[in-house]
Amino acid sequence: MEQVASALRSPERLQSPVLKPACARLCEGDIPIAELGPILIASPHPDDETLGCGGLISRCAELGCSVTILAMTKGEASHPGDRHWQTRLAQIRGAEQRRALNVMGFSDPDIIELGLPDGGLESLSTETLQRACVKIREIIHSRRIQTLFVPAVDDCHADHQITAKLLADVARDYPFRYFFSYQIWLPTSRRLSVTTNEREYGHDISSLIALKRSAIFQHQSQLNVVDPNHTEGFRMPPTLLDAKLGNTESFALVSDPAAWSS
Ligand SMILES: [Zn+2]
Repeated sequence: MEQVASALRSPERLQSPVLKPACARLCEGDIPIAELGPILIASPHPDDETLGCGGLISRCAELGCSVTILAMTKGEASHPGDRHWQTRLAQIRGAEQRRALNVMGFSDPDIIELGLPDGGLESLSTETLQRACVKIREIIHSRRIQTLFVPAVDDCHADHQITAKLLADVARDYPFRYFFSYQIWLPTSRRLSVTTNEREYGHDISSLIALKRSAIFQHQSQLNVVDPNHTEGFRMPPTLLDAKLGNTESFALVSDPAAWSS
């Protein structure tokens, strides 16, 4: 992955930290929702945005804030099968993601699908990654995105790690206001460079838990068998659901995203 990140860098990229001075005034505590501006949530698989940021998304809908979902993959590899099945599963999961966002308050959610291979971000060519970066830059420029939410760079799922590094690379030359990470799968170990680069924030979602639970329930393919011929595959563990349905959603404000891609 270090190789991937290096390949994405070009000499003319800005090397200075991306965050504006305003970030330095933030104290640890609740996320400053009113200051976020248009946000983009990078979601490696259809359900990560719901699990990691479902309460935040619902709050944004409540307040009329703009939310764009960057769907890195279509999640077609969660249950093994032939190409026909994978195409169908991708459609099922895309529809689930859309319904979940409907539940969270966005009747016509802004979802951008990159269509990268589920389970294969680590193996993508440099050229493909560069094309993805170009497209992500176009998306954030056209929507005037000011705040990013991306998976934690030390999440133990490789697709999540690569997504984090790609977005950190994009952040190098874009004046984001805030760059937050959310954790889905716990790291096997935490690197010092990650922990010293982050400050913890939370958002009280106690009044939104029922909504978030209902949104997660839309991802039926990840909770139950949706096709009797494809019963093998991923199923959300109860421990994950318990962790994501607590009273607070946790995020980390990343002070220097560039450190992630170096
Ligand atoms: Zn995922």
